[in-house]
Amino acid sequence: MDSCETHIHEECGVFGIYAANPFHVGDTVYYGLYALQHRGQESCGITVSNNGRFTTHKDLGLVSEVFTPERLASLGEGTMAVGHVRYGTTGNSGRENAQPIVVSHFTGNLATVHNGNLTNAAELRRELEGRGSIFHTTSDTEIISYVLTQERLETYTAEDAVLRAMNRLRGAYSLILMLEDKLIAVKDKNGFRPLCYGRNRHGDYIIASESCALSSVSAELIRELEPGEVVVFDRDGVHSIKDNCGKAPEAMCIFEYIYFSRPDSLIYGNSIHHARLRAGRFLAKDYPVDADIVIGVPDSGTDGAIGYSQESGIPYDIGLIKNKYIGRTFISPGQKSRETGVRIKLNAVRETVEGKRVVLVDDSIVRSTTIARTVAILREAGATQVHVRITAPPFLNPCYYGVDIDSRENLIACKYSVPEICNLIGADTLGYLGIEHLPELPGDSGRTYCTACFTGDYKTRIPEETKRDMFEESV
Ligand code: SF4
Repeated sequence: MDSCETHIHEECGVFGIYAANPFHVGDTVYYGLYALQHRGQESCGITVSNNGRFTTHKDLGLVSEVFTPERLASLGEGTMAVGHVRYGTTGNSGRENAQPIVVSHFTGNLATVHNGNLTNAAELRRELEGRGSIFHTTSDTEIISYVLTQERLETYTAEDAVLRAMNRLRGAYSLILMLEDKLIAVKDKNGFRPLCYGRNRHGDYIIASESCALSSVSAELIRELEPGEVVVFDRDGVHSIKDNCGKAPEAMCIFEYIYFSRPDSLIYGNSIHHARLRAGRFLAKDYPVDADIVIGVPDSGTDGAIGYSQESGIPYDIGLIKNKYIGRTFISPGQKSRETGVRIKLNAVRETVEGKRVVLVDDSIVRSTTIARTVAILREAGATQVHVRITAPPFLNPCYYGVDIDSRENLIACKYSVPEICNLIGADTLGYLGIEHLPELPGDSGRTYCTACFTGDYKTRIPEETKRDMFEESV
């Protein structure tokens, strides 16, 4: 899938460190955010705590653009830090919505980083504004900060405030909260978004959206947080609070396995790479075809293509090359420039596909323009047949949990049948992953997953106001 044209984007990535001794903790966060860059490319930021004094730098742009060596050095030494990469799903892409969100209050400083989307953000914001809160951003993360601060006024400990706040927040939130003396990791009661922690050889604790970010800073994964779990990192070590666990249906996002997370990450110990191989294998069983080669749309279709090849016995080959050195096409707003971007971005390996019957594997179809162009590129390079296999079912419903699928108008499967889509994209045959296979992708048992964008089976009440810029008018 081309995330630019199809208008489905990764959500956000969070990263935190609680160090045994002070050092330039911002450097570790920088490397961690680099590994999470695929989850958000609009803005990024880091806040470092030096004995409770917070220093923040955040801005629009990629991690490599925002953090020069001088900027990183200016964050100074500390024992704790949190960082964030953002693709905003609520609130615009402006600088003010970059995270961490830092709140200074007489109960103490609080830096918040958030992955997910609240489903009751509009009603919480109205309630908070009614009680005098003045918002500086249009993101729902500021709402979380204010709810936490409000609850802190009513409680004895920060942990109790977090537990109480969780009863007011609905929807998806994987959070890292930095207080003056501790880090607190929080996963919402449904557990929509991944959040894990580990430890490096110096004894520093690392928390991250994905385990690939732990590996990038040489930390060992300890485990994924459970839905509703709160894990506190402070001078006494690590302790878990499970008062809010088991209070809502478990619903990890299945699309993390299909598309969002990196193949080298694990969620609940399940390999993302293996989940994608499995999807390819299911497709080979359900939609067999006589073909000469299997190729994947780079990079998101590669694992599925290998799985299809392994199951079918049809050789896997490299048939498409992605140019990684051009700008992201979503910067180009018009349809015409988008199509130009796609042509620049992908090229066929003629020597692989010429005269061949090709199975082309991709992870999803949103609007269909990108896959249609890819099929055309293969035919121009001499492919005699192109059989498209998609490692996800058709998108039929919006996502309210932090993924930018907010309108059925943009979803091709809402308008056309599978044979019609096959015709529109110029493929010989088209096969989507069956919905019945979704729970089998992660390869575990006993866990349940959110599949709502495919099935319409939402695990929470659906909000009425969900547009990305729903708070814009009040700014
Ligand atoms: Fe993931 Fe789809 Fe559920 Fe959103 S609706 S959390 S994208 S499975």
